[in-house]
Amino acid sequence: MVGRRPGPFPPMPARLRIMPEQPFPPARVVAVLGRGVVDPETPILRADDLGALRGDGIFETVHVRDGKPWLLDEHLTRMAGSAARLELALPPRDALVDLVGQATEAWPAAGEAALRLVCTRGPEAGGGVTVFATVSGVGPAIVAARHRGLAVLTATAGFPADLRARAPWLLGGAKTLSYAMNMACLRWAAANGADDVLWTSTDGYALEAPTSTLIWRVGTTLHTVPAAATGILAGTTARHLLDNAAALGWTTAEDMISVADLAAVDGAWFTSSVRGVAAIRTLDHAPLRTSTEDTEAIRALLGF
Ligand code: PLP
Repeated sequence: MVGRRPGPFPPMPARLRIMPEQPFPPARVVAVLGRGVVDPETPILRADDLGALRGDGIFETVHVRDGKPWLLDEHLTRMAGSAARLELALPPRDALVDLVGQATEAWPAAGEAALRLVCTRGPEAGGGVTVFATVSGVGPAIVAARHRGLAVLTATAGFPADLRARAPWLLGGAKTLSYAMNMACLRWAAANGADDVLWTSTDGYALEAPTSTLIWRVGTTLHTVPAAATGILAGTTARHLLDNAAALGWTTAEDMISVADLAAVDGAWFTSSVRGVAAIRTLDHAPLRTSTEDTEAIRALLGF
């Protein structure tokens, strides 16, 4: 009754609005550092927030399994590295762990979800970072890609493989909010009938994808691209896979590979936190030899 009364009443606190009209599961959970879980419709960024104005900030995307964030330590370690590279005052790890806990506890425990943890530089005039977390569902296109695999097109990153290791201002290895170019690559792939893009260096090496890491198998060795030497993002999923590859009878290596050599490998995949693993089915329209058995074994090992 109270909620229906006309008049100058303040909106009900978000906490009380977990009501019958709340869809189940909720479309999204939003939690703000220092405020806790808020109504997901609540505006939480100021108009002068540098995250919005310049993409000046960092983030992590974490897989949530049965209500628990997967590989959270690894993500927080990478986030601290991103913050150091951007000279951003990321709050202490404990505060981030608490925030993640608040967000995931407000999400139904069963099944899978995606958690984003975001830290922007905050208002232009100063005042400190803006930090929030969101939890949302995993869409059917992502689930389908795990099973169907990907048609991938190569696209130049526009620089040689070793450039970012020599040019720290290019923010190699940092997971910044400036993903407009990454998203443009995915739209370009879709416009050309493909699912994803493999970035290549101007000297002919395969690097990574706009939101995933490249993995390939030659014989009994599982390979990935070295992150420090190339400035690609050090993928947490790829690291976990390589660290546990012995369970599949494989050794591991970090190597550069040319696009021409990639066409001849025994299997290639993209790995990332929410999609998990997706086989590269074709590369520039040419089929790769990626086997379903390998893909299933990797998927089982990663728990997707
Ligand atoms: N490379 C880029 C550019 C990414 O954005 C991502 C993930 O978002 C990855 C690789 C894969 O990293 P992770 O496995 O930690 O999700």
